[in-house]
Amino acid sequence: MKRLVLLGGGHAHVVVLDALARARLPDTEVTLISPYPRQIYSGMLPGWIAGHYALADTAIALPPLAERAGVRFKQARGVGLDLDARRVRCDDGSEIPFDWLSIDTGPTTASARIAGGTDHGIPVRPIEDFVTRIDALIAAASADPACSAAIIGSGAAGVELALALRARLPTLPLALIGSTALPLDGLPGRLQRRARRLLDARHIRWIGQRRAKAIDTDGVWLDDGQHVRASHVLQVTGAAAPEWPAQSGLATDAGGFIRVGPTLQSTSHPFVFAAGDVAAYADPRPKSGVFAVRAGPPLADNLRRSITGGTLQRWQAQRRALYLISTGDRRALAAWGPLSIEGAWVWRWKDRIDRAFMARFSQHGR
Ligand SMILES: Cc1cc2nc3c(=O)[nH]c(=O)nc-3n(C[C@H](O)[C@H](O)[C@H](O)COP(=O)(O)OP(=O)(O)OC[C@H]3O[C@@H](n4cnc5c(N)ncnc54)[C@H](O)[C@@H]3O)c2cc1C
Repeated sequence: MKRLVLLGGGHAHVVVLDALARARLPDTEVTLISPYPRQIYSGMLPGWIAGHYALADTAIALPPLAERAGVRFKQARGVGLDLDARRVRCDDGSEIPFDWLSIDTGPTTASARIAGGTDHGIPVRPIEDFVTRIDALIAAASADPACSAAIIGSGAAGVELALALRARLPTLPLALIGSTALPLDGLPGRLQRRARRLLDARHIRWIGQRRAKAIDTDGVWLDDGQHVRASHVLQVTGAAAPEWPAQSGLATDAGGFIRVGPTLQSTSHPFVFAAGDVAAYADPRPKSGVFAVRAGPPLADNLRRSITGGTLQRWQAQRRALYLISTGDRRALAAWGPLSIEGAWVWRWKDRIDRAFMARFSQHGR
């Protein structure tokens, strides 16, 4: 019996599980290792905060998906790899042997890069912890008018979370801190300016061209010495790599992300595959759920070929991803390369895409 371990229930791996549910691997025992029995879909997280979705609408239940695929579900967090013995070390002390390993564990938030971040910040990842802390923030803000919040990080996720929080908590003093002149760095200028105007209109204080230096119990210290008062500080500072891949001896890029070739195999250990934000592709792409989902079918295909002795296929991600950014009011902004649009219909479009994605992995959606 051959052994395949899927480490992490991220976007690419739910697609792999779906593929295995349609066609199982012959003579292969497959194990999914995940610290939580569900995968919260980040694309719908701002909608949950805004009150447009129940949390259950945003979560893929992993054990039933694994069961349909004939995959054993093990609830644990991978904390290291023994690549010589081919074992995954888990946080419960167990070691799971494998012949092939596929990693889709997503990014982390580098909360420790800001002094006091680990003690006083609310990192967006792990999303399970973030959800608990957002619930606590909503409860605190509803009970205490002195409650306030600041969000560090003004990419698409930071902007969406700010607008969603505003929709949920109309009077909460709220600031968005970014290192660039305008929010949504990297997206079309028209969209950046639109986001800036939206922040003003929703009474979200925009603090641009500033870096957060430290977080304490009262708020955030910026690099110009300014202090932004906030009882809750959210860290949405982009994707950082976990430490264990590099520590385990896998080849990584300078940021610690697992280097993979066009077949999604590790460049140092061909029996290890990686996809999603934890991977550094041969042809790099921005960290995004869209690219993680797109990597799912070629990953499933190459795992099958690898295990059954076929020739692996080369894959290259599409050049562009569609960005859909909800604005908390059942409207959304969209960007495709240099093009941008917005409107209520854009939100309905996003809602349809997100619900269709979730239905694909739910028992009822089949
Ligand atoms: C608020 C927000 C909104 C976003 N909206 C969008 C959007 O609309 N569109 C878009 O394209 N991108 C969006 N993103 C980015 C998107 O979330 C990521 O790019 C995407 O989640 C990456 O997918 P992944 O499969 O690599 O990892 P993840 O989705 O993070 O999945 C990783 C999984 O692995 C598990 N895991 C983690 N560590 C371990 C471990 N050590 N052992 C075992 N399992 C582990 C996790 O619990 C998780 O289930 C958003 C991000 C945020 C924060």
